[in-house]
Amino acid sequence: MKTYQLAVMKGDGIGPEIVDECIKVLDRVGARFGFGFAYQSCLMGGCAIDATGVPLPDETVRICKAGDAVLLGAVGGVKWDTLPGHLRPEAGLLGIRAALGLYANLRPAKIFEPLRGASPIREDIIGEGLDIMVVRELTGGIYFGARGRREEGGVPGAYDTESYTVPEIERIARVGFTLAQQRSGRLCSVDKANVLESSRLWRETVNRLAREYPGVALSHMYVDNCAMQLVRNPGQFDVIVTSNLFGDILSDEASMISGSIGMLASASLGDSSNGGGSFGLYEPIHGSAPDIAGQGVANPLATILSGAMLLRYTLGEPAAADAIEAAVNRVLAEKRTPDIWQQGYEKCGTAAMGDAVAAALNG
Ligand code: NAD
Repeated sequence: MKTYQLAVMKGDGIGPEIVDECIKVLDRVGARFGFGFAYQSCLMGGCAIDATGVPLPDETVRICKAGDAVLLGAVGGVKWDTLPGHLRPEAGLLGIRAALGLYANLRPAKIFEPLRGASPIREDIIGEGLDIMVVRELTGGIYFGARGRREEGGVPGAYDTESYTVPEIERIARVGFTLAQQRSGRLCSVDKANVLESSRLWRETVNRLAREYPGVALSHMYVDNCAMQLVRNPGQFDVIVTSNLFGDILSDEASMISGSIGMLASASLGDSSNGGGSFGLYEPIHGSAPDIAGQGVANPLATILSGAMLLRYTLGEPAAADAIEAAVNRVLAEKRTPDIWQQGYEKCGTAAMGDAVAAALNG
């Protein structure tokens, strides 16, 4: 039986509770599809600061690099908020992304049918349903360009620089094209080519690559129009690929379509792993929710759905990923954690939700 090696960083707050439920579901889906997992725990964030004095111990980086993929809960909490920047839990998060060379951030914005009512988007606009994938470049652009303070015309000023190289654009565009091939074949590249030179290079590069992906229908959109279209007519999008800055904003906007932070998964991908898929770190988009930590009420579904992404994008087990998503859909028709609970549904806690998804995998 094939055994996948997973590095697991449970993190702080609700992290351990939600990761345990994801592991429960991964073990069950593996048993059904004929593979297993070996989990290697490692510390990152506040728990690492408490144990070792730093948010990202070298040992954690070593364990993550040795695994097929990495599963992360969430990090942070008030206890560590007064530490200097480089010693805070968030520094561990940025550090592990850099150490693993994770340059593509994937954020699905999907409506689960039973949760239609939770979406802030009107029913008639949702139509048949929504399933968008935002692919954000994660290691380049204005967040990493030259910046500083300087006098301009005798008054104090500041500057940040948006800059991309062709190889940086090519590798993120390839992630977008490949995902579009695996989905409905539509890719929308978002830029600001009417104003920015870096966007004109982005567009030229994406257009050149398009010849290698004849089955993908490529379109371009300016970022301001895209922000508007995501609310006006989100059904027109399948895969969106964009720069670090534009993706930061658009992925938050798109993800709110699902209506609940406890449902939103994400992947950060790097280059090929041992298994041939992209190496990746998988985590819910929410934080460590210290306000509900230890109460057994956190919604584990974002983490469980991150596990489904891990199966699809790194391990190349799409049938197992589909099975988890279908199980989540089935369970949502009956049970809800408090954050998504509505009249008429059974209210359940973190472990009961994990148990229900695991049980639904047998169905
Ligand atoms: P948060 O996402 O942790 O919580 C925001 C609100 O959503 C809270 O009311 C919380 O109870 C609720 N919530 C979040 N996840 C939930 C879940 N799975 N089920 C039910 N309810 C859930 O954001 P915050 O309160 O701004 O930040 C708390 C800590 O998390 C901070 O230290 C912050 O730095 C950190 N954080 C970490 C990450 C990460 O690890 N990737 C991301 C964001 C914030």
